[in-house]
Amino acid sequence: MKRFEYYQPRTLDEAFERMGNLKGAGKYVAGGTDVIVRLKQRALKVDALVSLRGIAGLGDIAHNGALSLGGCALFRDIERNEVIARDFPALHQAVSMLANPQVRNVATIGGNLCNAAPSADCAPPLLVMDAVITLEGPRGKRDVPIESFFKGPGATLVEAPEILTGITIPAITPGTGSAFLKMGRVSQDIAKVNAAALVVMDGEVCLKCRLSAGAVAPVPLRLKACEKLVEGRRIDHDLLEEVALTASREVSPITDVRSTDDYRRHIAGVLAKRALGDALKFSTF
Ligand SMILES: Cc1cc2nc3c(=O)[nH]c(=O)nc-3n(C[C@H](O)[C@H](O)[C@H](O)COP(=O)(O)OP(=O)(O)OC[C@H]3O[C@@H](n4cnc5c(N)ncnc54)[C@H](O)[C@@H]3O)c2cc1C
Repeated sequence: MKRFEYYQPRTLDEAFERMGNLKGAGKYVAGGTDVIVRLKQRALKVDALVSLRGIAGLGDIAHNGALSLGGCALFRDIERNEVIARDFPALHQAVSMLANPQVRNVATIGGNLCNAAPSADCAPPLLVMDAVITLEGPRGKRDVPIESFFKGPGATLVEAPEILTGITIPAITPGTGSAFLKMGRVSQDIAKVNAAALVVMDGEVCLKCRLSAGAVAPVPLRLKACEKLVEGRRIDHDLLEEVALTASREVSPITDVRSTDDYRRHIAGVLAKRALGDALKFSTF
């Protein structure tokens, strides 16, 4: 592994300045569970890593109806948060299934999004929850909907030296339920396919439906044709089968070391259908 400098700024401004001075030869590091692996594999070469872990407030989790997560919020803290487990089950399930306790003790939600793997487990739940991402840089702050955040494998809207400082999830309304599912080779592995669903129910009728899937396209996807199918209807067995079929047609997976495109297409339908059924069970109407 090539030698590199390591900096630990205490403020956002210090981090922006440090990264700016590195003129493209530096990289931010939070938990390091993606960055350090890529450095060791020589898939990434940098002159310096700039750590975000010493910047006060970036690891905070707050709830005042809406849920605010700092960019460096640790998976372990998200997993242990009772409000998240109760009100935002899709996110809680995704985080609880991600990697293993050792990784979750150091890895962050901002790192998961900025790494921008199509399989990132936090993306589907945040997509169905209409999360908003806050990016801060030397010229100020901007909020972007998560749906426009991902640009391709490993590519996002983040423009160096910007930092993802927060994620906001709107407050849930009565009748909301959500769920996340993942299919991997073994439970700790990166997903072959993952999926999340959110419903807002009024009695037996679905007022709002969000479905999303990961590892089935260059970026984590909203399954909008499925959502349209479900909104305004009762969710019964026949509708779930229609959702499975529609989801399989809506994705455009590839074959790689983890899976084939055909298998991914099939599983995307199965997971979309099951996640929707699970979300319905979580809804409190
Ligand atoms: C054994 C193992 C198992 C894993 N299993 C899974 C899994 O099941 N599911 C899954 O989704 N992932 C998995 N991962 C990948 C990884 O753990 C996650 O993507 C994790 O969330 C990355 O977070 P981090 O804090 O470690 O990011 P880092 O490695 O520190 O950073 C990742 C990238 O994001 C950038 N970055 C980090 N934070 C910010 C920020 N706040 N603002 C701007 N840029 C930032 C860094 O510059 C870098 O490019 C696994 C990794 C390992 C090693």
